[in-house]
Amino acid sequence: MSKYLAERYQTIEVYTPGEQPQNRRYIKLNTNESPYPPAPAVSDAVRREAGRLELYSDPTCWELRSALARRYGGRAENVFVSNGSDEILSFAFMAFGGCGKKVYFPDISYGFYRVYADLYGYPSSMIPLREDFSIDCSDYVGLDGFIVIANPNAPTGMALKLEQMIRIIESNPDHVVLVDEAYIDFGAESCVRLTDRYENLLVVQTFSKSRSMAGARLGFAIGQESLIRDLEVIKYSTNPYNVNRMTLAAGLASLSDENYTVENCRKIIEVRDTTTQKLTEMGFQVLPSSANFVFARHPGYSGTDLYQKLKEEGVLVRHFNTPRTADFLRITIGTSEQMDVLMNALNRIMEV
Ligand SMILES: *Cc1c(COP(=O)(O)O)cnc(C)c1O
Repeated sequence: MSKYLAERYQTIEVYTPGEQPQNRRYIKLNTNESPYPPAPAVSDAVRREAGRLELYSDPTCWELRSALARRYGGRAENVFVSNGSDEILSFAFMAFGGCGKKVYFPDISYGFYRVYADLYGYPSSMIPLREDFSIDCSDYVGLDGFIVIANPNAPTGMALKLEQMIRIIESNPDHVVLVDEAYIDFGAESCVRLTDRYENLLVVQTFSKSRSMAGARLGFAIGQESLIRDLEVIKYSTNPYNVNRMTLAAGLASLSDENYTVENCRKIIEVRDTTTQKLTEMGFQVLPSSANFVFARHPGYSGTDLYQKLKEEGVLVRHFNTPRTADFLRITIGTSEQMDVLMNALNRIMEV
């Protein structure tokens, strides 16, 4: 760090992304990517658009927003698109947080929420999950600040029901409730259809997981037009061409083949359920997951130990070294063949 870095950033604890090893070939079950390639139409669209890179992308992203509105309901004016959903989170923290009020989110959740709060200098309140790692929605009733909830939550994979989300949204009419639905396509109930009822609800989703497009960086938000315009204030003050031409085309192409996404999600859910069953038979405690990963611990092994030994076996999983999660591994659901490799590795590790 140089002496030139603004003092307010000198103590920031930055977000640590999962490992993205560029050399050794691992079975990569650590960052919740899809094990499947994007829909076939996506690479054709990207190739076509690559020949037009001399031109800026459409700053309004109108075609993609219209296609998302057709798919999810509402109008293009109700949709915002961004360079990964992380960018929407960043914009939303800027737009809706602060003013001396706290930002509220669960103590065990997506690590970026704490980072954004710190980056923008907002006080935050990390509300503890219950002993069983579920969110107690009564903790979020009638708060006095911006609320961010991942549903399903990460890294637990556990989901709140729609009526619980409604209770949170209705009891906080003066503050935005952002629901991060990065994993919604793997089985939980989406709040998207509630956006026409609640002016304080912003639902954020991503093409990174269920649509196999983590490398393209494409996220979107759905909410009432006024909220979307608020996000545009931030976008047009930071990065008006935030989504590049190839990614816009890729997003449209993905939406033109919904069956492909639905079928991939179905396979992942099926493999998740058999993986849960097999891990449970091996003595793991596995939290009930509605996502494309499971969060599991074994009473006989430390999380660090299992993570290390799996890595030596060529299988990468995610380990979070915080007090309440240190015993757990977060394991992305891959293909059934990849999960067989994981099970064989675990069997070898746990025999010795
Ligand atoms: C993966 C993930 C994101 C970010 O996704 P991108 O669209 O790739 O930026 C956001 N929230 C949660 C909870 C995630 O797990």
